[in-house]
Amino acid sequence: MNGIKANTEKVCERVEKACDRSLRSTDEVTLVAVSKKFETDRITEAFEAGIRDFGENYAQEFRDKFNEIDPDINRQINWHFIGNLQKNKAKYVVGKVKLIHTLDKEDLAQELNKRASRQDVLVNCLIEVNISGENSKSGICVSKVEVLVEKTAELKNIRVTGLMGMPPYMEDVEKTRPYFIKLRELRDKLQVNHPALEDLSMGMSSDFEVAVEEGATIIRVGSAIFGPRGL
Ligand SMILES: *Cc1c(COP(=O)(O)O)cnc(C)c1O
Repeated sequence: MNGIKANTEKVCERVEKACDRSLRSTDEVTLVAVSKKFETDRITEAFEAGIRDFGENYAQEFRDKFNEIDPDINRQINWHFIGNLQKNKAKYVVGKVKLIHTLDKEDLAQELNKRASRQDVLVNCLIEVNISGENSKSGICVSKVEVLVEKTAELKNIRVTGLMGMPPYMEDVEKTRPYFIKLRELRDKLQVNHPALEDLSMGMSSDFEVAVEEGATIIRVGSAIFGPRGL
């Protein structure tokens, strides 16, 4: 009816071609299907089409879906939290998600660490970087990333494994490229002193091919898989 399986195949083909063009292996790129605002039956459908990584944006919506979904399927899913995370919602994600893409403040890091140490788990995070430089956008500004990396390095139950970023919306997708390059170069620079920073979460439905060409290791694709979201 909505073609999730066909859409997934198309996205995977486009990822493969982008990998070919940039001499990368498809193994280097994880496709995260962004399921925000879609019901759990759509998630199950995407799971049956072969997807194992899902991204959610809203902590309570995630909590509800996590409880609702078939436990046998849930056990095989890698959940990614990709939305803005408030400190008081940290409890809904710690211990449940494989990766939080949106760490942008020291106090959030401390809260996540506190919750994670109580549960005796490790929370993997990416630092969300405001690569567009627009005030309205979330993420920490480029000049403050290294300080946050150093502060979180002191927290035992948090591990920062890379960076996440979003270019501004561009009519011409080619114009997103400099932003992806900027994030990759920042990652490369930080890796000199912080070798654990390997991941680059960048690229969405409109621009994931450019992101893959520029080194994305994780792409977050919603509408190209699930169809349009009723907002
Ligand atoms: C919604 C969302 C996506 C997916 O957007 P699409 O354009 O539907 O692919 C990716 N990343 C973040 C942070 C999002 O909020």
